Amino acid sequence: MSNDDGVEAPGLRALAEALAPLGEVTVCAPDREQSASSHSISLHRPLRIEELPPWGTIRRYAVDGTPTDAVYVGVNHLLRDRRPEVVASGVNRGPNLAMDVLYSGTVAAAMEGAAMGLPSFAVSLVARGKPDFGPAAAFAAKLAAELGKRRPAPGTLLNVNVPPGKPTGAAITRLGRRTYSAAVVEKLDPRGRAYYWIGGDEQAHENVPGSDCDAVFDRGLISVTPLHLDLTQHALLEELRGWELPGLLPSQ
Ligand code: MN
Repeated sequence: MSNDDGVEAPGLRALAEALAPLGEVTVCAPDREQSASSHSISLHRPLRIEELPPWGTIRRYAVDGTPTDAVYVGVNHLLRDRRPEVVASGVNRGPNLAMDVLYSGTVAAAMEGAAMGLPSFAVSLVARGKPDFGPAAAFAAKLAAELGKRRPAPGTLLNVNVPPGKPTGAAITRLGRRTYSAAVVEKLDPRGRAYYWIGGDEQAHENVPGSDCDAVFDRGLISVTPLHLDLTQHALLEELRGWELPGLLPSQ
C-alpha cells in the first residue's frame, strides 16, 4: 500500500485496516504529503527508508520520496522476495477524477504497480477537511478481493472515487472532463520580488454521460474507472503516416 497524503494520513490507515482481514498488508508511503506529485521518480538523490511502529499486524515504512519511489522500493526492495498480490493507493483526501489522474500522486502509485504488472488500484474520497473514510475503505477492500482474484491484463489499473456521505451505489465509468480556474495569483514576497501561486480552487465538470464526474457529483455513486498505461492515440496512427515528414516509412 501507498498514497500521496503521507504515511500518517487517516485515509491510508482506514484503507490499511480494511484490507488487513484479506491478508498481509505492508505500507510503504511518502514520509510527508506529496499530493499532485504525479509519476515523478527520484533518480538523482538517495532515498531513506524508515520503519515505523506498526498498526497492529500492518507493517509500515516511510520513504523520503514520491509515491512512485515508495511503490518502487516497496515492491523491488522491501517485498523483493514476496511480490504483493495487489498494490493499493489511498484513500486520498480529495477527488482524482477526469484529468486529475495525470497530476495525482495517488493514481501514480497505482500506475507504478500496474507498470510492474501487479493488479493495482487507487481510491479517493471526494471530500475536504476531516471526512469519514470508512465507506471508501470498505468498498476498496471488496474491490481489492475481486482484483486479486480476477487479475486484469498487465498495465491496467482501477481508479475509484467515492462521493462524500453514504454512497447510493457504484458505477463503472470512463474519465470525464473537469474544468479548472487556471488561476495564477501574483504577490510580492517580503523582499519585494514577485512570486506566483498556481491552481485555484474553482472547479466544475462538463456533462459527459457515463463519466466518473457525473457518477460522483450528479448521482452520488462510487465511480470505478479502468485505466491503462498505453497512452497511444490509436485514431491518429493512420493519419500521421500521411504527413510529409523526412524519412517517414510507408505504412507497415
Ligand atoms: Mn493527496
